[in-house]
Amino acid sequence: MLVMPASGAQLRIRAAGFPARKTIEEFDWDAQPAVRQQIASLASGGFVTEARNVVLLGPPGTGKTHLATGLGIAAAGHGHRVLFATATEWVTRLTDAHRAGRLPQELVRLRRYGLIIVDEVGYLPFEQDAANLFFQLVSSRYEHASLILTSNLPFSGWGGVFGDQAVAAAMIDRVVHHADVLTLKGASYRLRNRGIDTLPSIKTQDTAD
Ligand code: ADP
Ligand code: MG
Repeated sequence: MLVMPASGAQLRIRAAGFPARKTIEEFDWDAQPAVRQQIASLASGGFVTEARNVVLLGPPGTGKTHLATGLGIAAAGHGHRVLFATATEWVTRLTDAHRAGRLPQELVRLRRYGLIIVDEVGYLPFEQDAANLFFQLVSSRYEHASLILTSNLPFSGWGGVFGDQAVAAAMIDRVVHHADVLTLKGASYRLRNRGIDTLPSIKTQDTAD
């Protein structure tokens, strides 16, 4: 078998740590027709060059992780360095850096990644220290480098996640100042054609994914 050298884009995609390779091309727009145009223009990668953010909101199974990954893969294809992790994983990384006394250096290092994806904001509430570290990540990237955040909670529910309305408000303010906010709708794609229309308690904090 001929082994081709990996392209820069392939190396960046591999290094990004996506949970699965899901592309924009694989997305079924019939399930989310309202966001098609916006995703198509974001897929050109211009938002990373402009250090703008993307927020994907919606109930479980509506394609938030898929679209965040697809936009990440597209950005990697346009030459941007990308890192993907869940909110909980980001907090663990930042906590480790903080304990080692190298949080400032870590934040500077992360700014070399044009795009950081934070999946599943709101699945688990943060301790106060964790919320403060997360706030520092958002502040350090503000107007310098892009974030994609996904959440099953509307912004009004983020105060509960960050344990503090003031921290949540200051964070949302920075994230949304230069951002596209896309709200996905409808039933879970995972449960389609199974005769199950709704999941229990998706209006409040949901734990299952
Ligand atoms: P969420 O992150 O919103 O909970 P995911 O993005 O993980 O949802 O989607 C759940 C599963 O359904 C994944 O396997 C994803 O690829 C698939 N999926 C969701 N929406 C679509 C869609 N519109 N077209 C194709 N696959 C989809
Ligand atoms: Mg998800």
